[in-house]
Amino acid sequence: MAKNKEIVVIPGDGVGTEVMDAALFVLRVVQKKYNYHFTFEHALAGGIATDTVGVPLPEETLEKAKKADAILFGAVGGPKWDNHPTHLRPEQALLGLRKELGLYSNLRPIVLFPGLEESSSLKAEIIEGVDFVVVRELTGGIYFGEKQRAKDSNGYEYASDLLLYHEHEIERIVRLAFQMAQNRKKQLTSVDKANVLESSRLWRTVVDRVKSDYPEVTVEHMLVDNCAMQLVRRPTAFDVIVTENMFGDILSDEAAILTGSIGMLPSASLGEGLVGFYEPVHGSAPDIAGLGIANPTAMILSMAMMLRHSFQDEEAASDVEKAVEKVLQMGYRTQDTKTEDEKTLTTMEFAEKVASLI
Ligand code: NAD
Repeated sequence: MAKNKEIVVIPGDGVGTEVMDAALFVLRVVQKKYNYHFTFEHALAGGIATDTVGVPLPEETLEKAKKADAILFGAVGGPKWDNHPTHLRPEQALLGLRKELGLYSNLRPIVLFPGLEESSSLKAEIIEGVDFVVVRELTGGIYFGEKQRAKDSNGYEYASDLLLYHEHEIERIVRLAFQMAQNRKKQLTSVDKANVLESSRLWRTVVDRVKSDYPEVTVEHMLVDNCAMQLVRRPTAFDVIVTENMFGDILSDEAAILTGSIGMLPSASLGEGLVGFYEPVHGSAPDIAGLGIANPTAMILSMAMMLRHSFQDEEAASDVEKAVEKVLQMGYRTQDTKTEDEKTLTTMEFAEKVASLI
């Protein structure tokens, strides 16, 4: 009997729609091979939602998302909406979905596929064998803290963003990271700025308390500035990195360089509820939107993470991942990862090659 799954599809803006079409093309092949019956519920979010219905996160999208088995999300944003007031900015859709669905953890696997060593601006010998995961806290910290903008008594404007963390918010993400490390190389790096931030000192206290429950895992505390340096100095030394919201956001973009392109990086956002949220790490890439040249790999691998985490289908997930690896080994590239002689494919051609190997 076919396995029924309802997937909410939110392409968003810019290249979001292009990489989503590519990933759905591959997913339809997975559906057939692994005997699924997927129902795709398309929904609006981001700039296109503001243009169409007046808000970046329509109630209808939220309702669909809450009922889904999983959510596939492209990307939102673009210069057209840059000057909108905060509540109408496209990224509010993303923040709103994370908050409303309780998606407190963001898993970002950083894996260098063989053959892409030359696509990175770093030396091949530094990045060969890179394989680690960034576990980023997603619903707390400075992105969600109280925001203020006002004028002081001299008439000068000031602004503030509150960086707030509750102990339980730290504990749940840290436990998840320990569990991941337990199932990998048993090495956890907790990244903070405990030399200056009180919230980081609380973070460290919680990590040190939780570590007694995972005696097999080795824990290292690392300051975020040092981590930014170590990521490009000795990236193969990392296994699982756990950190708060903003540090995780910045470090995982830096880590994109280790994989050849930001177009290679998938992510999964999970919470206490059952619904998982899968999106590429990259944004809407307005500079290449509409050209059909975006790398769909991050979206395709995010879809593979959906198969693994939401549908517990390791076989189908690794089938997709191996197909991507094979396409790269065969010398096919999108423009962002091209170095010299490889054959350059469009977004959809790349997806078709991946699908043909599943
Ligand atoms: P970006 O990730 O969109 O682009 C950064 C660079 O990477 C660009 O040169 C772009 O061409 C390239 N790139 C990104 N994705 C690619 C892909 N799949 N294939 C090939 N090249 C790719 O980041 P940005 O330029 O800082 O932001 C653009 C817009 O996206 C902004 O409005 C920003 O707010 C938004 N954004 C959205 C998300 C999201 O929806 N999750 C994340 C980051 C940025």
